[in-house]
Amino acid sequence: MSRRALAEDVGEVLVTEQQIEAAVGSLAQQLTADYADKSPLLVGVLTGAFVFMADLVRRLDFPLEVDFVAVSSYGDATVAGELELTRDVSDNVAGRHVLIVDDILDTGRTLAMLTDLFRRREAASVRTCCLLDKPSRRAVEFEADYLGLEIPDQFVVGYGLDFAQGYRNLPFVGVLRPELYES
Ligand code: 5GP
Ligand code: MG
Repeated sequence: MSRRALAEDVGEVLVTEQQIEAAVGSLAQQLTADYADKSPLLVGVLTGAFVFMADLVRRLDFPLEVDFVAVSSYGDATVAGELELTRDVSDNVAGRHVLIVDDILDTGRTLAMLTDLFRRREAASVRTCCLLDKPSRRAVEFEADYLGLEIPDQFVVGYGLDFAQGYRNLPFVGVLRPELYES
């Protein structure tokens, strides 16, 4: 059997490793200015945010904690379904400064729902940090407090983002060759 290089499936690279590194560095600087004295709880949204979270926290040189939630959507690609929290944080967030970390802001429904959830649980503050944003896709009014890069309305993979659970381990963000999305 021949070895298949994953990157060969990518038709176009939208965000290079260097661009990601620069964006993460800039976000880390902004977060350091705002959170260095707050011992925040960073809450990543599984599974897509795991790579971004890992890179981001290693650029933050102040006390913080990390936890993860998982959200799944019932519905198909065309009809937006109900969102359900399938994994919750381990500790009480009341009084904590919560920063929700996600890979990409699309319709805005996931981060709007999570922000609302942690506010109701009486977190001291709730903000959101997103590496990528597809502003043209928004279905609810929502903007991230900390944002890396805007990208066009295309389905992207890599740097944590999947297609059918694959491609998360690509170190850059790209669009697959069209025939791969069809099969
Ligand atoms: P929202 O609730 O903002 O529509 O959904 C955000 C979630 O949808 C992201 O956390 C991500 O899991 C998924 N998503 C949105 N756009 C893309 C994309 O282009 N590629 C991949 N792989 N996932 C996406
Ligand atoms: Mg996600």
